[in-house]
Amino acid sequence: MNTQKNGCVMISIIKKTISGLTKTRSKINHIIAGFSGKSYLNEEDLEKLEEALLGADLGWELSENIIESLKSPDEKEISLTDRFSNHILKYLQDMNEKEELQKVILLVGVNGTGKTTSAAKLGGYYSKDGETVSLVAADTYRAAAVEQIRIWSKQLNLQLTANEKSTDPASVAYDGVSSGIAISHDRIIVDTSGRVHTSANLMKELEKIYRVISKLTDEVDVLITIDANTGQNALQQAQEFLKYIPLTGVILTKMDGTARGGIAIQIMKELNLPVYFMGVGEQVDDLIPFSLDSYIKGLILTETEAVNG
Ligand code: GDP
Repeated sequence: MNTQKNGCVMISIIKKTISGLTKTRSKINHIIAGFSGKSYLNEEDLEKLEEALLGADLGWELSENIIESLKSPDEKEISLTDRFSNHILKYLQDMNEKEELQKVILLVGVNGTGKTTSAAKLGGYYSKDGETVSLVAADTYRAAAVEQIRIWSKQLNLQLTANEKSTDPASVAYDGVSSGIAISHDRIIVDTSGRVHTSANLMKELEKIYRVISKLTDEVDVLITIDANTGQNALQQAQEFLKYIPLTGVILTKMDGTARGGIAIQIMKELNLPVYFMGVGEQVDDLIPFSLDSYIKGLILTETEAVNG
């Protein structure tokens, strides 16, 4: 990619991230705007800000750190925005490096969190990037999910493996991944049915799907879709899935509809799982690769400030 194109892509990611975080930012931004021109923040100001940070699901520890830094005279010369950014980066400093995703991406998660939509969006994303992509509809419980993914695969002109007659998702996954490998596709995206950890059979089934795919290739990553509206439960959901399957990372969906987008930070901190993508709408191109830098900007800056800064 040439430098100019790279720059355009980056600006588009920043813009979409900022726009996807509108609801999360609105309260924080509103309070910070009220501080403008003040040389001193009183207890009431700090309390309001702390409440907004907690409300956005940034978590107790990080919110406290930020508030303490605002009280500290040592950091007076540093802008509020930079302090925010520094504290978040410091808070996440122990995270593992985010690896590139491999050929096969298995999507897992609780019902309704946006797996099927994300499968199609991911297909669109990689195909737009010049990759050859196969989709595999291994949600054998929900005919509508197969139909939905079929429509998208036609729209996006992607290879699809589906079998409405099969009741065995592991066999559909096997067929889809082996056919994607046989035609040397760059990317194979497998949609699975929604499940909750309390259903042991479904969780065992997921283990089997993973095992079957792993026999075909070592290049497998597992992404869990998490609805950003879920709040703290998001952490629990991922922890339960981790008992059955090695998760590589997270797609945080429905960021456009929540004021609690700070949950991304808690997921990264508490689970040490990287967020790979954010869903910011229902359309196929409403999926943004997660960039921590743009995300932090999106929490506090307006679009103009973020792009120019
Ligand atoms: P699944 O059961 O996990 O496969 O969930 P679906 O992919 O069927 O999505 C459930 C609903 O959430 C659908 O109405 C999607 O259009 C919607 N949805 C998925 N991702 C997003 C997103 O990022 N933003 C918004 N606003 N809606 C989304």
